[in-house]
Amino acid sequence: MPDYDELFLAFQALGLQRTPVIAHASLKRLGYIQGGAEAVLDAMLASFSSVIMPTHTYKTKIIPDVGPPNNGIMYGSGRDTNKMAEPFHLDMRADPLMGVLPETLRNHPSAVRTAHPILSFAGVNADFTLFTQTLYEPLAPIGALVEQDGWVVLINVDHTVNTSIHYAEKLAGRKQFIRWALKDDRVVECPNYPGDSLGFQAIEEHIKFEARRVEIGEAFIQAVPLKRLFEVVQELIKKDPLALLCERTDCERCMAVRVTGR
Ligand SMILES: [Zn+2]
Repeated sequence: MPDYDELFLAFQALGLQRTPVIAHASLKRLGYIQGGAEAVLDAMLASFSSVIMPTHTYKTKIIPDVGPPNNGIMYGSGRDTNKMAEPFHLDMRADPLMGVLPETLRNHPSAVRTAHPILSFAGVNADFTLFTQTLYEPLAPIGALVEQDGWVVLINVDHTVNTSIHYAEKLAGRKQFIRWALKDDRVVECPNYPGDSLGFQAIEEHIKFEARRVEIGEAFIQAVPLKRLFEVVQELIKKDPLALLCERTDCERCMAVRVTGR
């Protein structure tokens, strides 16, 4: 039954006290946590110089009937879901798919949240990093973290949720997509939307020697330096333009990358 002190020691053991991080987490394997997700977040805020997390909101998305070709989307397939779409606002909850921790971060009294209608981030002590985001460059905060020698922290999750790999893919020249979202009373076009991440765990064997890992009961915390992660992703894609794609034949975004060959 981990509490704040045990979590604090675990995060401290990563040795990243002066480092800004982006984090992804599933807290289930930690079991019952004394103090809940707030205790995890507080231990993180005490152990890193700044923390950001994706607080993405997928229920804002609209699928149009027509649009640009080879966009990894089935146009016209959103007639039912479009009706349930909700306009983005700054107090919108992070999608439940992201787990409870990003929502806990977003609700922290010192947190700032960006205003991208689908791909927002929240953070504490990370205003400069977060404010690099634009509608055109949704993953720019990750680029800003790389410049600051930031790390990615994965708590009981693998690289299939490692958003930073998406930005490295983009820098490697991989195809990006266009999506649409509701904001206020209009539909906003969101360019440079990343591809699918289900194939990302293939990075593990190339990055594991650079990673730091701490076990905590049944759970683990893994940290990877973003600069090295970016180098590895770009090397892999340079060698094989189809690296890190998933194998599903019904994956629209990976298939669109295969079609264009990049
Ligand atoms: Zn895929």
